[in-house]
Amino acid sequence: MSRSVLVTGGNRGIGLAIARAFADAGDKVAITYRSGEPPKDLTAAGVLAVKCDITDTEMVEQAYKEIEEKHGAVEVLVANAGITKDQLLMRMSEEDFTSVLDTNLTGTFRVVKRANRGMLRARKGRVVLISSVVGLYGGPGQANYAASKAGLVGFARSLARELGSRNLTFNVVAPGFVDTDMTQVLTDEQRANIVSQVPLGRYAKPEEIAATVKFLASDDASYITGAVIPVDGGLGM
Ligand code: NAD
Repeated sequence: MSRSVLVTGGNRGIGLAIARAFADAGDKVAITYRSGEPPKDLTAAGVLAVKCDITDTEMVEQAYKEIEEKHGAVEVLVANAGITKDQLLMRMSEEDFTSVLDTNLTGTFRVVKRANRGMLRARKGRVVLISSVVGLYGGPGQANYAASKAGLVGFARSLARELGSRNLTFNVVAPGFVDTDMTQVLTDEQRANIVSQVPLGRYAKPEEIAATVKFLASDDASYITGAVIPVDGGLGM
């Protein structure tokens, strides 16, 4: 059955792989993106691309209106959009901290809250949040990012408890290191150091994160809620 799926930050990296996975399965997929242009083959394949900054509540509302008009109410939400602004604590400005929280955590609150409207009405909904192993174990120079990603765990688990009786599930995927634009900023030395700590001995491909997200949104995961699933090559065990 074709579902209305929304992937935030779906124009590149992990979000793009997630959008492709749902589109390949025949779902009606919408993506939001903040800047740049979505890949042409994605929109040519029928994926609806809506420009939307998730730090802006009004833009989120407009994006949902457009998606609902074209695809119907969102049945599967993948809250993937996120940023990093790494800095050692003593050099981290308040803006470095609040902007990361405003995108990764409050931005997710904005899109989840809006999606819930339709999900509650339908008495069914699947929400998958993209956190990070950094949210589970921390990372030097990433106090802002780790706080935002750890916050997503408490957010999802609270909603899993609050809305389980309404047939809504909330799960978290915590990727390890994935080959995307976000990790391109690392030096070769940093990359080699990370890989040396990963039991599987390599970075994840975005498609490997997408596969877990797709599973959590499928009927096979109908009894899973409030779960945090690391997809990290064994990094955090
Ligand atoms: P990326 O930088 O390639 O993509 C991030 C996406 O988020 C982009 O589409 C961007 O447009 C969107 N975005 C950022 N700020 C936004 C805003 N204010 N409004 C709307 N959209 C916004 O990063 P990625 O590596 O694909 O990461 C995707 C998610 O996975 C992020 O939440 C990231 O924290 C998480 N993650 C990534 C890794 C990794 O190693 N790459 C590891 C763990 C978790």
